[in-house]
Amino acid sequence: MSGSTVPPATPRAAPPGQPKIEVAALRKSFGDHAVLRDINFRVDAGQVVVLLGPSGSGKSTLLRCLNLLVVPDGGRVRVGGDGFDFGAGQRLPDRRSLARFRANTGMVFQQFNLFPHMTALENVMEGPRTVRRTPRAEAEALARDLLRRVGLEDRAAEYPSRLSGGQKQRVAIARALAMRPEVMLFDEATSALDPELVGEVLAVIQQLAAEGMTMVIVTHEIAFARDVADRVVFMRDGVVVEEGPPAQVIDAPQQAATRSFLSHFH
Ligand code: ADP
Ligand code: MG
Repeated sequence: MSGSTVPPATPRAAPPGQPKIEVAALRKSFGDHAVLRDINFRVDAGQVVVLLGPSGSGKSTLLRCLNLLVVPDGGRVRVGGDGFDFGAGQRLPDRRSLARFRANTGMVFQQFNLFPHMTALENVMEGPRTVRRTPRAEAEALARDLLRRVGLEDRAAEYPSRLSGGQKQRVAIARALAMRPEVMLFDEATSALDPELVGEVLAVIQQLAAEGMTMVIVTHEIAFARDVADRVVFMRDGVVVEEGPPAQVIDAPQQAATRSFLSHFH
């Protein structure tokens, strides 16, 4: 996984210190259930933010608002140089601007969502081929480089059914990277894995962090969060309860809700 010649993960990355993600006054309800209530946060270029919180606190909805898989009711979402305001008087983005905006983010889910009828290599080539119209040879070279980066160069010709969960998830990461996103979003990427396969996926995420990829990671791997995060954001009931460096939020939480949540992991 090291010593590869692949270009850095974020060729279009802004210099460190510039905001890559900005969320302001973000609101989302499903029916009369307010799932996100006035969320504000910012992720600078190269930063890694880990989102923690109990089930149902709104973590997945927040990640989905960052690529507009979920359309916010109000507030502002910016990723890279691109963004939208939502709420009264705002027009919803049209399909083309939505598609362009979504290309700013690569998302990795708990379920791997690989195309079962395509090899690992074809899965990674698919986005560049169909969305970006990248020529085959170029898309294949990129895909092979990315598979090497996630330690799977020798599995390129395998179909997903012949890969372990950890391998599938590493292919899913390579596939997301193939679109050269500005930021990567991980939603419990290791929660469906057998325990012995978790480490190989976390190692790839850790490597991306070391290369300067901007990331928002939802995880219940607290030790990993402490290692990888520049900042930890703890959510409950659709609000940010507490945020700061891991040494503060994980090791010395100020809020009772954070302490209570973390006590389940000891
Ligand atoms: P988390 O990821 O922190 O577990 P979610 O963002 O998935 O939380 O969900 C927050 C709340 O929003 C939950 O109560 C969930 O049932 C609800 N919810 C999420 N998506 C939808 C949806 N599409 N329709 C209705 N309710 C939803
Ligand atoms: Mg979730």
